Amino acid sequence: EPKRTLTPNEQDKLSGDMRELYDRLLPSQESEDRRAQLIEKLDRILNEEWPDNDIRVNVFGSSGNLLSSTDSDVDICITTPLKKLESMHSLAALLAKHGMDKVVCRAAAKVPIVKCWDPELELAMDLNVNNPLALQNTRMIRTYVQLDDRVRPLAKIIKYWTKRRILNDAAFGGTISSYTWICMIISFLQRREPPILPSLQKITGHRTKSEGGETSSFADDVESLKGSGAANKESLGELLFQFFRHYGYEFEYSKHVVSIREGRLLSRKEKGWDPTDYGDKESHNRLCVEEPFTTVRNLGNSADYYAWHGIHLEIRRAFELLENGLQLEKCCEQYEFP
Ligand code: ATP
Ligand code: MG
Repeated sequence: EPKRTLTPNEQDKLSGDMRELYDRLLPSQESEDRRAQLIEKLDRILNEEWPDNDIRVNVFGSSGNLLSSTDSDVDICITTPLKKLESMHSLAALLAKHGMDKVVCRAAAKVPIVKCWDPELELAMDLNVNNPLALQNTRMIRTYVQLDDRVRPLAKIIKYWTKRRILNDAAFGGTISSYTWICMIISFLQRREPPILPSLQKITGHRTKSEGGETSSFADDVESLKGSGAANKESLGELLFQFFRHYGYEFEYSKHVVSIREGRLLSRKEKGWDPTDYGDKESHNRLCVEEPFTTVRNLGNSADYYAWHGIHLEIRRAFELLENGLQLEKCCEQYEFP
């Protein structure tokens, strides 16, 4: 039977180690500045090449949700009425002309992207054109991060752990994306007793209007929402320990679906993701995470049964290393392929 909680002394020790690690993970001002310069530079290159086309350069992903590290790539969405940019080829050619290296065009992908590396600013980037869906979920993640001071350090440390253990590459590794992990973290914090986070899509009011006069589809008025989780006094150390305990031992993968839209767990039956409807006999042990805006989408799908089994074992490994001696460093040790 896994240990249920940490003693106050253990919590202090683990929280202190987490604070120290968090300080090291925060991107330097210099790296934040380079990100801002990249956006200005792209804006200038694009609008000089195709003037009067209302081309805008928007940031999403970790560069926009307060969870980036110095080495995170920059996710960029270009919006414009200029349709020819959507084929990606002229964009790729222009970037190469302006000194970008390793330009790769994935025009046939589900979301077509151009990837490249800026040798001057030393940043990798992924660009899409007119696919602004992710701008909205990025803004919502950023809002959640700002609501309680514990969210950012907890999420950054869990993200660091997923990188070091190679558990966060949905595209290549058959695992799950950083975005999916972030949804799991937010859901966990919504279900603490008392809750640390609300469901921003469910609560009424607290919505601001954009420049265009449109009301936000989720509560986003940080000033009026901040501190709503203050009745919960759990420490950072206790939260990290309980996060691994929860997804390692408590969460019932055969029954439950993570839903930050609802702020509670859904049953796989009510969601229509019942293992018996899925077809494969192994689907009872599979992660189900509802995408908060496109709710028919299961973010857990990028990991098949075998991949998920491996991730589950890694979660339990992390729990056991904390349970036995609060070994945060060992927990985040770089995974070496055998
Ligand atoms: P990292 O620092 O590891 O790059 P990240 O926060 O940028 O983390 P990614 O998983 O790279 O996270 O995803 C980038 C962004 O793309 C997310 O913030 C989200 O806005 C969007 N995104 C990723 N996967 C999906 C998806 N399946 N559905 C909708 N949006 C997604
Ligand atoms: Mg990213």
